[in-house]
Amino acid sequence: MKRKIVGYHQDEKGDWVADLDCFHGQHVRHEPPFFNRPWSDSEEGRSSKLGAILNCVRCDALEFPEGLSEYKRTPEFTQDTIPKGLLKNHTTKLGTWGKIHVMEGKLLYKLDGQKGIVVLPMQTANIPPEMLHSVEADGDVRFYVTFNKLQN
Ligand SMILES: [Zn+2]
Repeated sequence: MKRKIVGYHQDEKGDWVADLDCFHGQHVRHEPPFFNRPWSDSEEGRSSKLGAILNCVRCDALEFPEGLSEYKRTPEFTQDTIPKGLLKNHTTKLGTWGKIHVMEGKLLYKLDGQKGIVVLPMQTANIPPEMLHSVEADGDVRFYVTFNKLQN
């Protein structure tokens, strides 16, 4: 998924990591001939790439970023009370990660244009910001969704 560079930090080895707007990091090492990013070696170069787009494979893998905390949760829904909006493609806004918690039954979590992921009781499924998705009850189900952002 395409994400914007919003800042940088250095890892424990001193290598530069771009902070993306999804709260994931991505190394931006300059290691020719494998990674040709001369810009990552200078402050000026890094600044010039703020706002540039990188592909975030950790979003594609639905990996929940570190350091987030819940700020809101939905009521519990059942197959009969799922809001219509959740059954059609929708997104969370930038900065907000959703997490589906299934209490009972089975919920199908569908990412736009992909096969559904079955979420079972005591399991959770992560929803990256701005990623088109929908859910569908697979028989009787009880679940809720939390919304999470970076702690300030
Ligand atoms: Zn990401």
